[in-house]
Amino acid sequence: MIQIAIDGPGGAGKSTVAKAVAAKLGIVYVDTGALYRTVGYYVRQKDISPDDREGVGAILCEISIEIKYVDGAQHVFLNGEDLGDKIRTPEMSMYASKVSAIPAVRAFLLDTQRDIAKKNSVIMDGRDIGTVILPNADVKIFLTASEECRAMRRYKELIERGQDVKYEDVLAEMNQRDKQDSTRDVAPTAAAADAVLLDNTGMTFDQTVDAVIALAMEKRGK
Ligand code: C5P
Repeated sequence: MIQIAIDGPGGAGKSTVAKAVAAKLGIVYVDTGALYRTVGYYVRQKDISPDDREGVGAILCEISIEIKYVDGAQHVFLNGEDLGDKIRTPEMSMYASKVSAIPAVRAFLLDTQRDIAKKNSVIMDGRDIGTVILPNADVKIFLTASEECRAMRRYKELIERGQDVKYEDVLAEMNQRDKQDSTRDVAPTAAAADAVLLDNTGMTFDQTVDAVIALAMEKRGK
Protein backbone atom coordinates (compact mmCIF):
# COMPACT_ATOMS: atom_id res chain seq x y z
CA MET A 1 0.00 0.00 0.00
CA ILE A 2 1.15 3.51 -0.77
CA GLN A 3 -0.28 6.91 0.03
CA ILE A 4 0.68 9.88 -2.13
CA ALA A 5 -0.60 13.31 -1.10
CA ILE A 6 -0.65 16.19 -3.58
CA ASP A 7 -1.61 19.62 -2.30
CA GLY A 8 -1.36 23.05 -3.82
CA PRO A 9 -3.26 26.05 -5.16
CA GLY A 10 -5.77 25.96 -8.03
CA GLY A 11 -4.60 25.37 -11.56
CA ALA A 12 -1.29 23.75 -10.62
CA GLY A 13 -2.45 20.63 -12.45
CA LYS A 14 -2.93 18.51 -9.33
CA SER A 15 -5.92 16.55 -10.60
CA THR A 16 -4.76 15.82 -14.16
CA VAL A 17 -1.28 14.90 -12.94
CA ALA A 18 -2.62 12.75 -10.09
CA LYS A 19 -5.00 10.97 -12.47
CA ALA A 20 -2.14 10.10 -14.84
CA VAL A 21 0.12 8.97 -12.00
CA ALA A 22 -2.68 6.77 -10.63
CA ALA A 23 -3.15 5.12 -14.03
CA LYS A 24 0.59 4.50 -14.42
CA LEU A 25 1.05 3.09 -10.92
CA GLY A 26 -2.26 1.19 -10.91
CA ILE A 27 -3.51 2.92 -7.77
CA VAL A 28 -6.71 4.84 -6.93
CA TYR A 29 -6.98 8.57 -7.62
CA VAL A 30 -9.04 10.55 -5.13
CA ASP A 31 -10.14 14.08 -6.07
CA THR A 32 -11.09 15.54 -2.68
CA GLY A 33 -12.14 18.90 -4.14
CA ALA A 34 -15.13 17.10 -5.68
CA LEU A 35 -16.41 16.37 -2.16
CA TYR A 36 -16.40 20.05 -1.17
CA ARG A 37 -17.96 20.92 -4.53
CA THR A 38 -20.73 18.39 -3.80
CA VAL A 39 -21.51 19.96 -0.43
CA GLY A 40 -21.46 23.38 -2.15
CA TYR A 41 -23.88 22.09 -4.78
CA TYR A 42 -26.35 20.92 -2.15
CA VAL A 43 -26.07 24.20 -0.24
CA ARG A 44 -26.81 26.09 -3.47
CA GLN A 45 -29.79 23.81 -4.21
CA LYS A 46 -31.18 24.55 -0.76
CA ASP A 47 -30.72 28.30 -1.32
CA ILE A 48 -28.52 28.62 1.72
CA SER A 49 -25.70 31.18 1.72
CA PRO A 50 -22.31 29.39 1.69
CA ASP A 51 -21.20 31.96 4.28
CA ASP A 52 -23.99 30.94 6.68
CA ARG A 53 -22.05 28.56 8.93
CA GLU A 54 -25.03 27.58 11.06
CA GLY A 55 -27.32 27.08 8.08
CA VAL A 56 -24.76 24.93 6.26
CA GLY A 57 -23.98 22.93 9.41
CA ALA A 58 -27.68 22.21 9.91
CA ILE A 59 -28.21 20.58 6.50
CA LEU A 60 -25.13 18.30 6.54
CA CYS A 61 -27.22 15.53 8.11
CA GLU A 62 -29.35 15.49 4.93
CA ILE A 63 -26.33 14.73 2.74
CA SER A 64 -25.07 11.31 1.78
CA ILE A 65 -21.95 11.35 -0.40
CA GLU A 66 -20.54 8.29 -2.11
CA ILE A 67 -17.47 7.97 -4.29
CA LYS A 68 -17.60 5.29 -7.00
CA TYR A 69 -15.16 4.43 -9.76
CA VAL A 70 -16.47 3.82 -13.26
CA ASP A 71 -13.74 2.71 -15.71
CA GLY A 72 -11.17 4.17 -13.35
CA ALA A 73 -12.84 7.59 -13.24
CA GLN A 74 -14.14 9.01 -9.98
CA HIS A 75 -17.87 9.74 -9.81
CA VAL A 76 -19.41 11.49 -6.83
CA PHE A 77 -22.98 10.66 -5.88
CA LEU A 78 -25.07 13.07 -3.85
CA ASN A 79 -27.99 11.27 -2.22
CA GLY A 80 -27.82 8.70 -5.01
CA GLU A 81 -27.43 11.15 -7.92
CA ASP A 82 -24.25 11.18 -10.03
CA LEU A 83 -23.48 14.91 -10.25
CA GLY A 84 -21.06 14.62 -13.19
CA ASP A 85 -19.94 18.00 -14.52
CA LYS A 86 -22.58 19.96 -12.58
CA ILE A 87 -19.99 20.59 -9.86
CA ARG A 88 -17.38 21.88 -12.33
CA THR A 89 -18.66 25.43 -12.88
CA PRO A 90 -16.93 28.59 -11.57
CA GLU A 91 -19.98 29.15 -9.33
CA MET A 92 -19.52 25.73 -7.74
CA SER A 93 -15.78 26.41 -7.31
CA MET A 94 -16.66 29.45 -5.23
CA TYR A 95 -19.34 27.61 -3.24
CA ALA A 96 -16.84 24.81 -2.55
CA SER A 97 -14.23 27.27 -1.37
CA LYS A 98 -16.68 28.99 0.98
CA VAL A 99 -18.21 25.88 2.53
CA SER A 100 -14.77 24.28 2.88
CA ALA A 101 -13.82 27.00 5.38
CA ILE A 102 -16.55 25.74 7.75
CA PRO A 103 -15.08 23.32 10.35
CA ALA A 104 -18.26 21.19 10.45
CA VAL A 105 -17.99 20.59 6.69
CA ARG A 106 -14.35 19.49 6.96
CA ALA A 107 -15.20 17.17 9.86
CA PHE A 108 -18.13 15.77 7.85
CA LEU A 109 -15.84 14.81 4.93
CA LEU A 110 -12.87 13.56 6.94
CA ASP A 111 -13.79 9.88 7.28
CA THR A 112 -14.86 9.52 3.64
CA GLN A 113 -11.35 10.55 2.62
CA ARG A 114 -9.47 8.52 5.23
CA ASP A 115 -11.54 5.38 4.61
CA ILE A 116 -10.58 5.23 0.93
CA ALA A 117 -6.90 5.55 1.84
CA LYS A 118 -7.23 2.79 4.44
CA LYS A 119 -8.59 0.33 1.90
CA ASN A 120 -6.57 1.25 -1.21
CA SER A 121 -3.23 2.54 -2.41
CA VAL A 122 -4.07 6.12 -3.29
CA ILE A 123 -2.89 9.35 -4.78
CA MET A 124 -5.11 12.00 -3.24
CA ASP A 125 -5.19 15.66 -4.25
CA GLY A 126 -6.50 18.62 -2.28
CA ARG A 127 -5.34 21.40 0.02
CA ASP A 128 -4.80 19.66 3.37
CA ILE A 129 -4.01 16.06 2.42
CA GLY A 130 -0.40 16.06 3.63
CA THR A 131 -1.15 18.23 6.67
CA VAL A 132 -4.48 16.90 7.96
CA ILE A 133 -6.06 14.02 6.04
CA LEU A 134 -3.04 11.73 5.56
CA PRO A 135 -0.34 13.12 7.85
CA ASN A 136 1.60 9.86 7.50
CA ALA A 137 1.47 9.69 3.70
CA ASP A 138 4.53 8.02 2.14
CA VAL A 139 5.00 10.84 -0.35
CA LYS A 140 3.88 14.45 0.04
CA ILE A 141 4.10 16.90 -2.82
CA PHE A 142 3.15 20.56 -2.86
CA LEU A 143 2.54 21.31 -6.53
CA THR A 144 2.52 24.87 -7.69
CA ALA A 145 3.24 27.14 -10.67
CA SER A 146 3.20 30.85 -11.46
CA GLU A 147 -0.13 32.63 -11.15
CA GLU A 148 -0.42 33.32 -14.92
CA CYS A 149 0.47 29.75 -15.81
CA ARG A 150 -2.13 28.32 -13.41
CA ALA A 151 -4.85 30.71 -14.58
CA MET A 152 -4.15 29.89 -18.25
CA ARG A 153 -4.40 26.15 -17.55
CA ARG A 154 -7.68 26.58 -15.70
CA TYR A 155 -9.00 28.82 -18.51
CA LYS A 156 -8.15 26.23 -21.19
CA GLU A 157 -9.72 23.45 -19.12
CA LEU A 158 -13.01 25.38 -18.80
CA ILE A 159 -13.04 26.27 -22.52
CA GLU A 160 -12.49 22.60 -23.35
CA ARG A 161 -15.51 21.76 -21.18
CA GLY A 162 -17.51 24.15 -23.38
CA GLN A 163 -17.83 26.92 -20.79
CA ASP A 164 -17.98 30.54 -21.89
CA VAL A 165 -15.35 32.22 -19.69
CA LYS A 166 -12.82 35.06 -19.97
CA TYR A 167 -9.16 34.65 -18.96
CA GLU A 168 -9.26 37.77 -16.74
CA ASP A 169 -12.29 36.44 -14.85
CA VAL A 170 -10.68 33.03 -14.39
CA LEU A 171 -7.50 34.69 -13.05
CA ALA A 172 -9.48 36.89 -10.62
CA GLU A 173 -11.65 34.00 -9.43
CA MET A 174 -8.63 31.74 -8.97
CA ASN A 175 -6.77 34.35 -6.93
CA GLN A 176 -9.79 35.05 -4.75
CA ARG A 177 -10.30 31.35 -4.10
CA ASP A 178 -6.60 30.71 -3.36
CA LYS A 179 -6.60 33.63 -0.94
CA GLN A 180 -9.70 32.28 0.82
CA ASP A 181 -8.27 28.75 0.92
CA SER A 182 -4.84 29.72 2.22
CA THR A 183 -5.96 32.23 4.85
CA ARG A 184 -8.85 30.33 6.46
CA ASP A 185 -8.52 29.28 10.11
CA VAL A 186 -9.10 25.59 9.58
CA ALA A 187 -6.87 23.40 7.37
CA PRO A 188 -5.60 26.19 5.09
CA THR A 189 -3.79 25.30 1.85
CA ALA A 190 -0.27 24.60 3.04
CA ALA A 191 2.75 22.47 2.33
CA ALA A 192 3.41 19.90 5.06
CA ALA A 193 6.80 20.32 6.72
CA ASP A 194 7.94 17.10 5.02
CA ALA A 195 6.46 17.86 1.57
CA VAL A 196 8.56 18.24 -1.56
CA LEU A 197 7.88 21.54 -3.31
CA LEU A 198 7.39 21.04 -7.04
CA ASP A 199 7.02 24.18 -9.18
CA ASN A 200 5.96 23.08 -12.64
CA THR A 201 5.97 26.48 -14.38
CA GLY A 202 7.62 25.76 -17.71
CA MET A 203 7.38 22.01 -17.26
CA THR A 204 5.27 19.93 -19.62
CA PHE A 205 2.50 17.73 -18.34
CA ASP A 206 4.57 14.58 -18.97
CA GLN A 207 7.57 16.05 -17.16
CA THR A 208 5.40 16.78 -14.13
CA VAL A 209 3.94 13.26 -14.14
CA ASP A 210 7.45 11.78 -14.41
CA ALA A 211 8.71 13.99 -11.57
CA VAL A 212 5.90 12.82 -9.27
CA ILE A 213 6.50 9.17 -10.15
CA ALA A 214 10.25 9.60 -9.57
CA LEU A 215 9.56 11.08 -6.13
CA ALA A 216 7.19 8.22 -5.31
CA MET A 217 9.76 5.63 -6.41
CA GLU A 218 12.54 7.34 -4.48
CA LYS A 219 10.51 7.46 -1.27
CA ARG A 220 9.34 3.92 -1.71
CA GLY A 221 12.87 2.70 -2.22
CA LYS A 222 14.00 4.20 1.08
O1 C5P B 1 -9.54 21.17 -6.09
P1 C5P B 1 -10.82 21.90 -6.38
O2 C5P B 1 -10.64 23.17 -7.16
O3 C5P B 1 -11.86 21.02 -7.01
O4 C5P B 1 -11.39 22.30 -4.95
C1 C5P B 1 -12.52 23.12 -4.79
C2 C5P B 1 -12.41 23.82 -3.44
O5 C5P B 1 -12.57 22.85 -2.40
C3 C5P B 1 -11.07 24.50 -3.16
O6 C5P B 1 -11.05 25.84 -3.61
C4 C5P B 1 -10.97 24.42 -1.65
O7 C5P B 1 -11.61 25.50 -1.04
C5 C5P B 1 -11.74 23.18 -1.29
N1 C5P B 1 -10.87 22.07 -0.96
C6 C5P B 1 -10.40 22.00 0.34
N2 C5P B 1 -9.64 20.94 0.73
C7 C5P B 1 -9.35 19.95 -0.12
C8 C5P B 1 -9.80 20.01 -1.46
C9 C5P B 1 -10.55 21.10 -1.84
O8 C5P B 1 -10.66 22.89 1.13
N3 C5P B 1 -8.65 18.91 0.31
